[in-house]
Amino acid sequence: MLRGLLRGLKSIIYPKTCPACKAKLDEAGGELICKKCYSQIKMNLPPFCVLCGRHLEKNSPNKNICPQCVRKRLHFDRAWSPCVYEGVAKKLIHEFKYKGKNNLAKPLSQIMINFIREYGLPLGDFDLIIPIPLHKARMREREFNQSEALGMHIAKEFKKELSCETLLRLRPTKSQTELKDSERALNVAGSFTVSKKVSLKDKNLLLIDDVLTTGATSSEASLALKNSGAEGVFVLTLAN
Ligand SMILES: [Zn+2]
Ligand SMILES: [Zn+2]
Repeated sequence: MLRGLLRGLKSIIYPKTCPACKAKLDEAGGELICKKCYSQIKMNLPPFCVLCGRHLEKNSPNKNICPQCVRKRLHFDRAWSPCVYEGVAKKLIHEFKYKGKNNLAKPLSQIMINFIREYGLPLGDFDLIIPIPLHKARMREREFNQSEALGMHIAKEFKKELSCETLLRLRPTKSQTELKDSERALNVAGSFTVSKKVSLKDKNLLLIDDVLTTGATSSEASLALKNSGAEGVFVLTLAN
């Protein structure tokens, strides 16, 4: 009771605000993102590019694949993202990733869970869910791995195994957001390895990350996993 009282007092002094627009939240209703912002998150709509998962424009020259993916060599089999990386979604991911708002893991992973259900993603076919790891040095700065937090909720929902010890970072890399598209692949080249303790032979894996932009990070992680015997590597990010 005392704890509840203290929490009540704390929320009077520091009312909880929406991480995207700073409006006061309806705490009694357990709100973590305000309704207005939630409704403004731009969703990806089909048809999707069969590689990167972005919405395919009507006048796209190829039937199933977007112009960016035609020119690139990506090592994953296919990626999906429920949201477009702009506006509210971009702001929320920034708060989640860099401002330590780890309680956003729940509502953000829920968006991914809803997408999995709506589009019938084959979760049953995956042997393991693997979050993109952070290097130890980055982990110290941020205190938690946002991909792991998202992956945890998804694995729990679909009763899948989450493995945070399979994929490892060999070296710290510059944040991809600081780099030009052309520099990103080089920045992450050879930066992942797979633990010798696990066997990935013939396994189908689902990688989880927050954002897919050029796809360089997910592609490099997929290459390491496939070189270790994985049969299929698929990617689910919150936004792209
Ligand atoms: Zn808001
Ligand atoms: Zn594409």
